[in-house]
Amino acid sequence: MSLIKTLPAVALLATALPVVSAGDAHADTEYLPTYWNGKKVYLSVACHDGNDDIPGGDCISNSGCDGYWENGASNKIANAAVAGDGAGRNLLERFYYVSKGRGTLNENVENSNEWGADLHVPLHTNASNETCSNTNAGAHGTKALYEGSGDERCARILQRKVGADSPGTDDDPVKRDDLGELSLPDAPSCYLEAEFHTWQKGVDWIRKETSWSYRIGGTVDEFFGY
Ligand SMILES: [Zn+2]
Repeated sequence: MSLIKTLPAVALLATALPVVSAGDAHADTEYLPTYWNGKKVYLSVACHDGNDDIPGGDCISNSGCDGYWENGASNKIANAAVAGDGAGRNLLERFYYVSKGRGTLNENVENSNEWGADLHVPLHTNASNETCSNTNAGAHGTKALYEGSGDERCARILQRKVGADSPGTDDDPVKRDDLGELSLPDAPSCYLEAEFHTWQKGVDWIRKETSWSYRIGGTVDEFFGY
């Protein structure tokens, strides 16, 4: 929550002063394009915070098949989406100013709001109670989460673009009212659950992030009308 945004214009001068924030322990990484189109995109790396109720608390590791670690994989997806040289154009090549947050949920949301993101993008993979040998594509796929109408359009684009490549076929936009990363950002939040990491086929696909991460950039382009 940025108090500054609610103050009259004269108070905006105060933004030049040092800001003490809970995010200091997990400084964000900013990426400047060679030419900036004027839009700021915040990539929120999965932390799996048990810290929803404990601001600044530690991330919880979410594990999956074959030694999969969601938080680390999410960071790789973010790196590929920002500056990867795989298939398609990354966010820098699409001229977005990007900030990547690797803090807890609360830190990332606070930093995203202070930075003034135009779009907030949490990057996650999904889980279900199953065995890694499950091969039922119809029980897996891409979910894009949204809360309100401001988020829904982006979620539908994200589900369509990433879902077209993920091995699971049950791709859906999903309305959720219980997630801080949807309710707390000032910007529209476009929340990706790329594929399930609890079946081997899903993990194998997620790990080829440079082959599909451009779809995140494509989603941002379509959302902003580029
Ligand atoms: Zn997650």
